Amino acid sequence: MTLTPPPDLPGARTHENLRNYPPADQWDSFFLNDARAHPRKVRREFMLVPSTCFNCESACGLLAYVDKEDLSILKVEGNPAHPGSRGRNCAKGPATINQINDPERLLHPLRRVGERGGGEWERVSWDEALDDIAGRIRTAITEGRNNEVMYHVGRPGEDGFAERFLMAWGVDGHNSHTNICSSGARFGQSLWGGFDRPSPDYANAKVILLLSSHLETGHYFNPHAQRIMEGKLDGAKLIVVDPRMSNTASHANLWLAPWPGSEAAILLAIASYLLRTGQINGTYLERWFNWDTYLDNLHPNAPRDFATFLNLLTADYEHFTFEFAAAEAQVPVARIEEMARLVAQCDGRLSAHVWRSACAGNYGGWQVARALWFVLALTGSIGTRGGTSPNGWDKFIPHGPNMRPRTSHGTS
Ligand code: SF4
Repeated sequence: MTLTPPPDLPGARTHENLRNYPPADQWDSFFLNDARAHPRKVRREFMLVPSTCFNCESACGLLAYVDKEDLSILKVEGNPAHPGSRGRNCAKGPATINQINDPERLLHPLRRVGERGGGEWERVSWDEALDDIAGRIRTAITEGRNNEVMYHVGRPGEDGFAERFLMAWGVDGHNSHTNICSSGARFGQSLWGGFDRPSPDYANAKVILLLSSHLETGHYFNPHAQRIMEGKLDGAKLIVVDPRMSNTASHANLWLAPWPGSEAAILLAIASYLLRTGQINGTYLERWFNWDTYLDNLHPNAPRDFATFLNLLTADYEHFTFEFAAAEAQVPVARIEEMARLVAQCDGRLSAHVWRSACAGNYGGWQVARALWFVLALTGSIGTRGGTSPNGWDKFIPHGPNMRPRTSHGTS
């Protein structure tokens, strides 16, 4: 029996003579039997075209099986060459084929005729549609009514490109679902380091801390879920803070189900415990944080040395006790203590994430993200192997000119 050569792609797997994806050297010409011709054996030739799933912004890799004869797409699978998703997708990835073949898919611009809500539409050309929309925008801008133009996008996955157009037009009207979704977490995280989301190194973590039902449930990050499981297999402890008995909670070593909105109290109690017991990375804090600015603002008459800073910081947070957090969260004190002890053992390898849920729909939810980064900072886990980095540290993001939006009341 001849064994296949070892896989050459990050997501390729073999077992004896079985492999999960066709080898890359066959992607230009790959043959399958036509299932509809069964039991006859009718071979059809395909090309496997790499694509990207955009059913969420994880942007996992896909492979489209394109029939060479009529260019129809037979199916969509994961792409084993993609370094993030490594050939694995959530159910929404392969389901992309349904969007392509949906009998109700809109294939042409339609313009409403008659009353709004009347359900009457006429087909128009792309030129007509673009002239109509551009004409209305132009009229608003030339008449100084820039902010009567609003741009709404469901998922802005283009790193701010559309915003640059709006800035150039003097329109301060960008809107997306983020406003009621992740903006709280983004805001809290931006205040820490100018980046609006975490990029945790789960695979190398010693402790993984997830607030809200991540793993990251269904939506955000099948690639993250893969690394969380790798970290767990490598011995990482998984802590899940989620009011719901979620799928993620079922994988946890420690699950806390707090009263929604109390997450920041739990995190501050952990921060206070780390400070009280000296289980912090002082060298890291002294080097990377503006502790002297803290003294300037909160303790202007105190001596300017790091030891004084630590003493004062500890005192400033001492009222965040386990008992306080337990009362806020309505969970047993012992559970929060257990969580704090686990976090204290992270050795600078605390991988943590908070996004929606705890930060969204709660008054002051953005403080949950701030409190989480406080814990990451105290344990020396920011920017470390197995820790949590701000997103974008290893990614080029083009930034346009930092223009102030022009408003209908004046120009920038
Ligand atoms: S996680 Fe699922 S929906 Fe999101 S990009 Fe990947 S396959 Fe698509």
